[in-house]
Amino acid sequence: MSTAAVVIDLDALAGNYRRLREIAAPSESAAVVKADAYGLGLGPVARRLRAEGCGRFFVANLAEGLELRELLDDAVIYVLHGADAGAERRFVDAALTPVLNTLEQVRAWVELGRPAILNLDTGMTRLGLGPADVDAMLADAPLMERLEIEYLMTHLACADEPAHPLNAAQLGRFETLRARLPAAPTSIGNAAGAVTGPDTRGDLVRLGIALYGGNPLGDRASPVEPVAALYGTVIQIRDIDEPCSVGYGATYAIEPPARVAVIAAGYANGYLRALSNTGVASIGGALVPVIGRVSMELICVDVTALPAAAVEVGQRVELFGKDISIDDVAAAAGTISYELLTGLGPSSVFEYLGEV
Ligand SMILES: *Cc1c(COP(=O)(O)O)cnc(C)c1O
Repeated sequence: MSTAAVVIDLDALAGNYRRLREIAAPSESAAVVKADAYGLGLGPVARRLRAEGCGRFFVANLAEGLELRELLDDAVIYVLHGADAGAERRFVDAALTPVLNTLEQVRAWVELGRPAILNLDTGMTRLGLGPADVDAMLADAPLMERLEIEYLMTHLACADEPAHPLNAAQLGRFETLRARLPAAPTSIGNAAGAVTGPDTRGDLVRLGIALYGGNPLGDRASPVEPVAALYGTVIQIRDIDEPCSVGYGATYAIEPPARVAVIAAGYANGYLRALSNTGVASIGGALVPVIGRVSMELICVDVTALPAAAVEVGQRVELFGKDISIDDVAAAAGTISYELLTGLGPSSVFEYLGEV
Protein backbone atom coordinates (compact mmCIF):
# COMPACT_ATOMS: atom_id res chain seq x y z
CA MET A 1 0.00 0.00 0.00
CA SER A 2 1.31 3.45 -0.86
CA THR A 3 1.28 4.76 2.65
CA ALA A 4 3.36 4.58 5.79
CA ALA A 5 2.85 1.76 8.27
CA VAL A 6 3.50 1.75 11.99
CA VAL A 7 4.16 -1.76 13.24
CA ILE A 8 3.80 -2.26 16.98
CA ASP A 9 5.42 -5.36 18.42
CA LEU A 10 3.38 -6.13 21.53
CA ASP A 11 5.58 -9.14 22.33
CA ALA A 12 8.49 -6.68 22.64
CA LEU A 13 6.30 -4.42 24.81
CA ALA A 14 5.52 -7.38 27.08
CA GLY A 15 9.19 -8.33 27.21
CA ASN A 16 10.14 -4.77 28.15
CA TYR A 17 7.53 -4.75 30.91
CA ARG A 18 8.85 -8.02 32.36
CA ARG A 19 12.46 -6.80 32.16
CA LEU A 20 11.73 -3.44 33.82
CA ARG A 21 9.55 -5.06 36.50
CA GLU A 22 12.47 -7.36 37.33
CA ILE A 23 14.91 -4.41 37.47
CA ALA A 24 12.60 -2.37 39.70
CA ALA A 25 11.59 -5.18 42.08
CA PRO A 26 10.70 -5.21 44.93
CA SER A 27 9.07 -1.92 43.90
CA GLU A 28 5.80 -2.51 42.05
CA SER A 29 5.65 -1.50 38.37
CA ALA A 30 2.76 0.55 37.01
CA ALA A 31 2.40 1.46 33.33
CA VAL A 32 1.93 5.04 32.15
CA VAL A 33 -0.42 4.91 29.13
CA LYS A 34 -1.27 8.59 28.74
CA ALA A 35 -1.67 10.11 25.26
CA ASP A 36 -3.02 6.91 23.69
CA ALA A 37 -0.16 4.87 25.19
CA TYR A 38 2.48 7.27 23.87
CA GLY A 39 0.80 7.25 20.47
CA LEU A 40 0.91 3.47 20.05
CA GLY A 41 -2.77 2.71 20.72
CA LEU A 42 -4.31 2.48 24.19
CA GLY A 43 -6.43 -0.64 23.55
CA PRO A 44 -3.78 -3.08 22.25
CA VAL A 45 -1.11 -1.74 24.64
CA ALA A 46 -3.23 -1.77 27.81
CA ARG A 47 -4.77 -5.18 27.12
CA ARG A 48 -1.36 -6.74 26.54
CA LEU A 49 0.18 -5.15 29.65
CA ARG A 50 -2.80 -6.30 31.74
CA ALA A 51 -2.33 -9.84 30.35
CA GLU A 52 1.31 -9.59 31.46
CA GLY A 53 0.15 -8.96 35.02
CA CYS A 54 0.32 -5.16 35.14
CA GLY A 55 -2.42 -4.11 37.54
CA ARG A 56 -1.88 -0.34 37.88
CA PHE A 57 -2.05 2.23 35.11
CA PHE A 58 -1.57 6.00 34.92
CA VAL A 59 -3.41 8.21 32.41
CA ALA A 60 -3.39 12.00 32.12
CA ASN A 61 -7.04 12.97 32.37
CA LEU A 62 -10.64 11.87 32.90
CA ALA A 63 -11.35 11.14 29.21
CA GLU A 64 -8.35 8.84 29.03
CA GLY A 65 -9.36 7.21 32.30
CA LEU A 66 -12.89 6.51 31.08
CA GLU A 67 -11.53 5.04 27.84
CA LEU A 68 -9.17 2.78 29.77
CA ARG A 69 -11.91 1.70 32.18
CA GLU A 70 -13.96 0.49 29.19
CA LEU A 71 -10.99 -1.69 28.22
CA LEU A 72 -9.96 -2.99 31.64
CA ASP A 73 -12.57 -3.57 34.30
CA ASP A 74 -10.21 -4.91 36.97
CA ALA A 75 -7.18 -2.57 36.80
CA VAL A 76 -6.37 0.27 39.18
CA ILE A 77 -6.39 3.49 37.13
CA TYR A 78 -4.77 6.71 38.36
CA VAL A 79 -5.41 10.06 36.69
CA LEU A 80 -2.32 12.29 36.79
CA HIS A 81 -4.05 15.64 36.30
CA GLY A 82 -6.41 15.01 39.22
CA ALA A 83 -10.16 15.44 39.36
CA ASP A 84 -11.44 18.69 37.84
CA ALA A 85 -13.84 20.58 40.11
CA GLY A 86 -17.30 19.09 39.70
CA ALA A 87 -16.06 15.90 38.01
CA GLU A 88 -15.34 13.97 41.23
CA ARG A 89 -18.51 11.83 40.94
CA ARG A 90 -17.51 10.65 37.50
CA PHE A 91 -14.21 9.45 38.96
CA VAL A 92 -16.04 7.46 41.62
CA ASP A 93 -18.54 6.01 39.14
CA ALA A 94 -15.74 4.73 36.89
CA ALA A 95 -13.53 3.70 39.83
CA LEU A 96 -10.77 6.12 38.78
CA THR A 97 -8.30 7.31 41.41
CA PRO A 98 -7.10 10.87 41.03
CA VAL A 99 -3.60 12.13 41.68
CA LEU A 100 -4.39 15.20 43.80
CA ASN A 101 -2.26 18.21 42.89
CA THR A 102 -3.90 21.17 44.61
CA LEU A 103 -5.49 21.99 47.96
CA GLU A 104 -8.83 22.49 46.19
CA GLN A 105 -8.62 19.01 44.69
CA VAL A 106 -7.78 17.54 48.11
CA ARG A 107 -10.68 19.34 49.81
CA ALA A 108 -13.21 18.25 47.18
CA TRP A 109 -11.97 14.66 47.09
CA VAL A 110 -12.08 13.96 50.85
CA GLU A 111 -15.83 14.63 50.72
CA LEU A 112 -16.18 11.34 48.83
CA GLY A 113 -14.36 9.22 51.41
CA ARG A 114 -12.08 7.51 48.88
CA PRO A 115 -8.31 7.10 48.73
CA ALA A 116 -6.15 9.07 46.30
CA ILE A 117 -2.53 9.69 45.41
CA LEU A 118 -1.08 12.89 46.85
CA ASN A 119 1.44 14.50 44.50
CA LEU A 120 4.13 16.57 46.23
CA ASP A 121 5.98 19.07 44.06
CA THR A 122 9.63 18.94 45.12
CA GLY A 123 11.29 20.87 42.32
CA MET A 124 9.60 20.05 39.01
CA THR A 125 7.37 23.12 39.37
CA ARG A 126 4.64 21.58 37.35
CA LEU A 127 1.75 19.80 39.10
CA GLY A 128 1.74 19.11 42.82
CA LEU A 129 1.36 20.40 46.35
CA GLY A 130 4.13 22.53 47.80
CA PRO A 131 5.25 23.01 51.42
CA ALA A 132 2.67 25.79 51.98
CA ASP A 133 -0.12 23.49 50.81
CA VAL A 134 1.10 20.79 53.18
CA ASP A 135 1.10 23.38 56.01
CA ALA A 136 -2.49 24.28 55.16
CA MET A 137 -3.55 20.64 55.09
CA LEU A 138 -1.89 19.86 58.41
CA ALA A 139 -3.61 22.87 59.99
CA ASP A 140 -7.00 21.45 58.96
CA ALA A 141 -7.58 18.56 61.41
CA PRO A 142 -10.98 17.45 60.00
CA LEU A 143 -9.44 17.32 56.52
CA MET A 144 -6.49 15.26 57.72
CA GLU A 145 -8.83 12.88 59.50
CA ARG A 146 -10.70 12.13 56.31
CA LEU A 147 -7.73 12.04 53.95
CA GLU A 148 -6.85 8.54 52.71
CA ILE A 149 -3.44 8.51 51.02
CA GLU A 150 -2.87 5.55 48.72
CA TYR A 151 0.58 6.77 47.69
CA LEU A 152 2.67 9.85 48.29
CA MET A 153 4.09 10.72 44.92
CA THR A 154 6.70 13.04 43.48
CA HIS A 155 8.16 13.44 39.99
CA LEU A 156 11.84 14.09 39.29
CA ALA A 157 12.81 16.74 36.76
CA CYS A 158 16.20 15.18 35.92
CA ALA A 159 15.71 11.44 36.45
CA ASP A 160 17.33 10.79 33.06
CA GLU A 161 20.51 12.48 34.34
CA PRO A 162 21.23 10.47 37.52
CA ALA A 163 24.19 12.67 38.53
CA HIS A 164 22.19 15.91 38.35
CA PRO A 165 22.14 17.60 41.80
CA LEU A 166 18.40 18.33 41.54
CA ASN A 167 17.67 14.61 42.04
CA ALA A 168 19.17 14.56 45.54
CA ALA A 169 17.58 17.93 46.34
CA GLN A 170 14.13 16.70 45.29
CA LEU A 171 14.49 13.44 47.23
CA GLY A 172 15.52 15.45 50.31
CA ARG A 173 12.48 17.74 50.04
CA PHE A 174 10.24 14.70 49.51
CA GLU A 175 11.52 13.09 52.72
CA THR A 176 10.96 16.32 54.65
CA LEU A 177 7.36 16.63 53.46
CA ARG A 178 6.69 12.92 53.90
CA ALA A 179 7.86 12.99 57.50
CA ARG A 180 5.14 15.52 58.29
CA LEU A 181 2.32 13.57 56.63
CA PRO A 182 0.63 10.30 57.64
CA ALA A 183 2.67 7.23 56.69
CA ALA A 184 1.90 5.95 53.19
CA PRO A 185 3.66 4.03 50.41
CA THR A 186 5.58 6.14 47.88
CA SER A 187 5.78 6.52 44.11
CA ILE A 188 8.85 8.35 42.79
CA GLY A 189 10.46 6.96 39.66
CA ASN A 190 9.48 7.20 36.03
CA ALA A 191 11.24 4.72 33.74
CA ALA A 192 14.59 6.50 34.16
CA GLY A 193 14.21 6.59 37.95
CA ALA A 194 13.22 2.91 37.99
CA VAL A 195 16.35 1.91 36.08
CA THR A 196 18.72 4.20 38.00
CA GLY A 197 18.38 2.54 41.41
CA PRO A 198 16.42 2.09 44.65
CA ASP A 199 16.64 5.74 45.80
CA THR A 200 14.71 7.01 42.80
CA ARG A 201 11.98 4.36 42.77
CA GLY A 202 9.72 4.37 45.82
CA ASP A 203 7.19 1.56 46.33
CA LEU A 204 5.57 2.08 42.92
CA VAL A 205 7.40 3.09 39.75
CA ARG A 206 5.56 4.73 36.87
CA LEU A 207 7.01 3.19 33.71
CA GLY A 208 6.56 5.13 30.51
CA ILE A 209 8.99 5.51 27.62
CA ALA A 210 11.07 2.39 28.27
CA LEU A 211 7.98 0.17 27.90
CA TYR A 212 7.66 1.58 24.39
CA GLY A 213 11.31 1.01 23.48
CA GLY A 214 12.91 4.37 24.27
CA ASN A 215 16.19 4.19 26.18
CA PRO A 216 15.40 5.74 29.58
CA LEU A 217 19.03 6.69 30.30
CA GLY A 218 20.65 8.03 27.15
CA ASP A 219 24.25 7.47 28.26
CA ARG A 220 23.83 3.76 29.10
CA ALA A 221 23.08 0.71 26.96
CA SER A 222 19.32 0.38 26.62
CA PRO A 223 17.72 -2.28 28.83
CA VAL A 224 14.76 -2.56 26.43
CA GLU A 225 13.90 -3.65 22.88
CA PRO A 226 12.31 -1.53 20.16
CA VAL A 227 8.50 -1.76 20.10
CA ALA A 228 7.39 0.63 17.37
CA ALA A 229 8.69 0.68 13.80
CA LEU A 230 7.83 3.22 11.12
CA TYR A 231 7.92 1.97 7.53
CA GLY A 232 7.45 3.69 4.21
CA THR A 233 6.89 1.96 0.88
CA VAL A 234 8.96 2.47 -2.28
CA ILE A 235 6.53 3.84 -4.86
CA GLN A 236 8.91 5.00 -7.63
CA ILE A 237 12.56 4.49 -8.56
CA ARG A 238 14.33 7.11 -10.67
CA ASP A 239 17.55 6.79 -12.63
CA ILE A 240 19.28 10.15 -12.54
CA ASP A 241 21.03 10.82 -15.86
CA GLU A 242 21.59 14.56 -15.59
CA PRO A 243 22.46 16.89 -12.67
CA CYS A 244 19.34 17.97 -10.81
CA SER A 245 17.98 18.90 -7.40
CA VAL A 246 15.71 16.81 -5.18
CA GLY A 247 12.53 17.97 -3.45
CA TYR A 248 11.06 21.27 -2.24
CA GLY A 249 13.43 24.17 -1.99
CA ALA A 250 15.96 22.33 -4.20
CA THR A 251 18.08 21.77 -1.08
CA TYR A 252 19.92 18.72 -2.40
CA ALA A 253 21.92 18.55 -5.62
CA ILE A 254 22.51 15.16 -7.18
CA GLU A 255 25.00 14.18 -9.91
CA PRO A 256 24.58 11.32 -12.39
CA PRO A 257 24.85 8.44 -12.48
CA ALA A 258 22.58 7.96 -9.47
CA ARG A 259 19.37 6.21 -8.38
CA VAL A 260 16.73 7.68 -6.13
CA ALA A 261 13.90 5.77 -4.46
CA VAL A 262 10.75 7.74 -3.68
CA ILE A 263 9.16 6.51 -0.46
CA ALA A 264 5.59 6.99 0.72
CA ALA A 265 6.09 8.40 4.24
CA GLY A 266 6.55 11.97 5.42
CA TYR A 267 5.90 14.40 8.21
CA ALA A 268 2.16 13.63 8.20
CA ASN A 269 3.19 10.13 9.24
CA GLY A 270 5.40 11.46 12.02
CA TYR A 271 8.66 11.41 10.07
CA LEU A 272 9.76 14.85 11.14
CA ARG A 273 10.67 17.51 8.60
CA ALA A 274 13.79 18.20 10.66
CA LEU A 275 15.13 14.93 9.19
CA SER A 276 15.42 16.58 5.74
CA ASN A 277 18.91 15.81 4.35
CA THR A 278 19.73 14.21 7.73
CA GLY A 279 17.70 11.01 8.21
CA VAL A 280 18.63 7.52 7.12
CA ALA A 281 16.42 4.65 5.99
CA SER A 282 17.06 0.92 6.11
CA ILE A 283 16.44 -1.10 2.96
CA GLY A 284 16.86 -4.73 3.92
CA GLY A 285 19.39 -3.70 6.56
CA ALA A 286 21.43 -1.40 4.28
CA LEU A 287 21.36 2.23 5.43
CA VAL A 288 20.68 4.89 2.79
CA PRO A 289 20.50 8.67 3.25
CA VAL A 290 17.33 10.75 3.08
CA ILE A 291 18.02 13.42 0.44
CA GLY A 292 16.15 16.69 0.06
CA ARG A 293 13.30 17.89 2.22
CA VAL A 294 10.82 15.59 3.90
CA SER A 295 7.40 16.23 2.28
CA MET A 296 3.99 15.60 3.81
CA GLU A 297 3.72 11.98 2.72
CA LEU A 298 6.90 11.48 0.66
CA ILE A 299 10.66 11.33 1.09
CA CYS A 300 13.51 10.50 -1.28
CA VAL A 301 16.49 8.30 -0.48
CA ASP A 302 19.70 7.83 -2.47
CA VAL A 303 20.01 4.15 -3.36
CA THR A 304 22.93 4.50 -5.79
CA ALA A 305 25.16 2.42 -3.52
CA LEU A 306 22.77 -0.56 -3.50
CA PRO A 307 22.61 -3.29 -6.16
CA ALA A 308 19.72 -2.58 -8.55
CA ALA A 309 17.95 -5.78 -7.48
CA ALA A 310 17.98 -4.68 -3.83
CA VAL A 311 15.30 -2.02 -4.32
CA GLU A 312 11.90 -2.53 -5.88
CA VAL A 313 8.60 -0.72 -6.04
CA GLY A 314 6.30 -1.97 -3.31
CA GLN A 315 9.13 -2.73 -0.90
CA ARG A 316 8.96 -1.63 2.73
CA VAL A 317 11.68 0.66 4.01
CA GLU A 318 12.34 1.12 7.73
CA LEU A 319 12.59 4.70 9.00
CA PHE A 320 13.02 3.63 12.61
CA GLY A 321 12.58 0.34 14.42
CA LYS A 322 14.93 -2.63 14.75
CA ASP A 323 17.64 -1.37 12.34
CA ILE A 324 17.53 2.34 13.20
CA SER A 325 16.95 3.24 16.84
CA ILE A 326 14.18 5.65 17.67
CA ASP A 327 16.56 7.47 20.03
CA ASP A 328 19.05 8.09 17.21
CA VAL A 329 16.32 9.39 14.90
CA ALA A 330 14.94 11.63 17.64
CA ALA A 331 18.42 13.01 18.36
CA ALA A 332 19.01 13.67 14.63
CA ALA A 333 15.71 15.58 14.55
CA GLY A 334 16.59 17.59 17.69
CA THR A 335 13.88 15.99 19.82
CA ILE A 336 13.16 12.99 22.06
CA SER A 337 11.65 9.58 21.38
CA TYR A 338 8.47 10.62 23.27
CA GLU A 339 7.68 13.29 20.69
CA LEU A 340 8.45 11.00 17.77
CA LEU A 341 6.11 8.29 19.12
CA THR A 342 3.23 10.58 20.03
CA GLY A 343 3.54 12.24 16.60
CA LEU A 344 3.02 9.05 14.56
CA GLY A 345 0.36 10.44 12.34
CA PRO A 346 -3.23 9.38 11.79
CA SER A 347 -2.31 9.09 8.08
CA SER A 348 -0.40 5.88 8.82
CA VAL A 349 -1.74 2.34 8.96
CA PHE A 350 -1.21 0.73 12.38
CA GLU A 351 -0.40 -2.99 12.53
CA TYR A 352 -0.06 -4.99 15.74
CA LEU A 353 1.96 -8.11 16.42
CA GLY A 354 1.05 -10.24 19.44
CA GLU A 355 -2.35 -8.73 20.14
CA VAL A 356 -4.46 -10.28 22.93
C1 LIG B 1 4.65 10.72 31.81
C2 LIG B 1 4.95 10.52 33.25
C3 LIG B 1 5.69 9.40 33.69
C4 LIG B 1 6.36 8.43 32.75
O1 LIG B 1 7.61 8.99 32.37
P1 LIG B 1 8.64 8.25 31.42
O2 LIG B 1 9.80 9.16 31.35
O3 LIG B 1 7.96 8.10 30.09
O4 LIG B 1 8.94 6.91 32.04
C5 LIG B 1 5.82 9.21 35.06
N1 LIG B 1 5.28 10.08 35.95
C6 LIG B 1 4.60 11.18 35.55
C7 LIG B 1 4.08 12.11 36.58
C8 LIG B 1 4.43 11.44 34.20
O5 LIG B 1 3.78 12.54 33.82
